[in-house]
Amino acid sequence: MSQPNDSGATWEPRRVEVHPGKEAVADFDPSLTFECVDECTWCCQHGVLLYEPDFLELANCASLSEATTQVRGEDFIRKEEKDREEHVDDEGEACFFLRDDGLCSLHAEEDWKPARCSVFPLSVSVENGDIHVSVRETAHEHCEGLNVSERRVIDHLDAFLPAVLWELDDPETRRTL
Ligand code: SF4
Ligand code: SF4
Repeated sequence: MSQPNDSGATWEPRRVEVHPGKEAVADFDPSLTFECVDECTWCCQHGVLLYEPDFLELANCASLSEATTQVRGEDFIRKEEKDREEHVDDEGEACFFLRDDGLCSLHAEEDWKPARCSVFPLSVSVENGDIHVSVRETAHEHCEGLNVSERRVIDHLDAFLPAVLWELDDPETRRTL
């Protein structure tokens, strides 16, 4: 079904090859652009779902007992209280790996981050066996990186959707801490 964008133009979900042989249905306005904004950090106030390959990778660079927690049988990066006013949740907490300078310590020091962090501000669902990708609803309101650059999301889906998503039993990103 076609959908209107902010200017009233319509678009339809389209099938995109994201990695060789791995397709997703892009269910968002194809003119949408994105560039992460330095020091925004809004998306780092959430506890991050860790897919199994991420959990194993994280074990190489952090103490799992310090950095992770299990909820409903799934592993998440835990949140901790931060000494900052902005972009913390109602309890004043944000991701364990968010540094005081607003950088992600995993990204800055290990040149790596969990798949779930790459996907943001998009969300992934599975419909009829296909991976569908859309814009996370709250991102329209809070993510400062939407429509501030020339970099079209639909042309760079490989940067948002790691190939590992196609190997998972459940790649959906709706689960939160
Ligand atoms: S792991 Fe890094 S990028 Fe992901 S939420 Fe935590 S601080 Fe942010
Ligand atoms: S909310 Fe958007 S702009 Fe802000 S840090 Fe996350 S991805 Fe980047």
